[in-house]
Amino acid sequence: MQLTPVAVLRSPFKQKFAIPRQPGLAPAALSTIEFYAEFNDANSLRGIGQFSHLWLIFVFHENADKGWSPLVRPPRLGGNQKMGVFATRSTFRPNPIGMSVVELVDWQHKNGVLTITVKGADLLDGTPILDIKPYIPYSDAHPDASGGFASDAPQPLLSVTFSQQAQAQLQTTSKKYASIQALIEQVLAQDPRPAYKKSQGEIQEYGMTLYDLNIRWRCSENQAEVIGISQIAE
Ligand code: SAM
Repeated sequence: MQLTPVAVLRSPFKQKFAIPRQPGLAPAALSTIEFYAEFNDANSLRGIGQFSHLWLIFVFHENADKGWSPLVRPPRLGGNQKMGVFATRSTFRPNPIGMSVVELVDWQHKNGVLTITVKGADLLDGTPILDIKPYIPYSDAHPDASGGFASDAPQPLLSVTFSQQAQAQLQTTSKKYASIQALIEQVLAQDPRPAYKKSQGEIQEYGMTLYDLNIRWRCSENQAEVIGISQIAE
C-alpha cells in the first residue's frame, strides 16, 4: 500500500515546540491547505462549504523516521507514567498518521491554485495532508464520552502578560500579522513547558518561532511573561 499526500498544510508553527497538543486550543492559528497539482481540482471540494469543521488526516512527517514503542509517556501524566501507544495521541506510532478536527474558514480556487483555510490546527508548517473529510456532528460528537487519563476537563491555563518592550514590538508585528497577540496568548496559555521543567519551580526562559517571528517568554508557576518579539533575519 502506498499513500500519496493530496496537499501540504502551511501553518504559523515552524517548529514542534509549543504547538498546542490538540486542535482547537489556539483558534487564532490560521493555516492554509495547498493542494498539489495532481489534486488541484475544485470539483473535489464541491459541497464542503456546508460543513463547519473538517477532519484532517496527515503524516507526522518530522517523526516519520524516528520509530515507535508500544509504551509512551503522555505529557498529560507529567511524563512519569507509561501508557500503550494506541491509548494515546503520541506522534511516534507504527504508522505516523495523525487526525485533527479543525474549523473551516474558507476555500478558494484562485489563480489556478486550490486552497482551504482552517482555524485551530495543531500542525507543523509543511505537514503532508493525506485526506480531508467533513466532521459529522450526529455521528462524530459524543458529549458523554469519557476522556480517560486525558481528563474531561482541559488543563489549567497560564495567564499571559507582555513586558513593556514586548508590547511595543507587538504594535509593529500586529501590522503584518493581525492576530499575533491572540495567537501568542493562546499558545502560551497552554503552557508548552516540558513536564520536568514545570516541576523545577524556578523561573525559566523559552523561545518559539511563529511565522517569521522569534517569541521569547519567561515562565513561573502560573504565569508566562512575553519579553521579546523579533523578526528572524532572512
Ligand atoms: N490531533 C492530532 C492527533 O491526535 O493525531 C495530533 C496530536 S499530537 C499530540 C500534536 C503534536 O504533534 C503537536 O503538539 C506537535 O508537537 C506535533 N506535530 C504536529 N505536526 C507534526 C508533524 N508534521 N510532524 C511531527 N510532529 C508534529
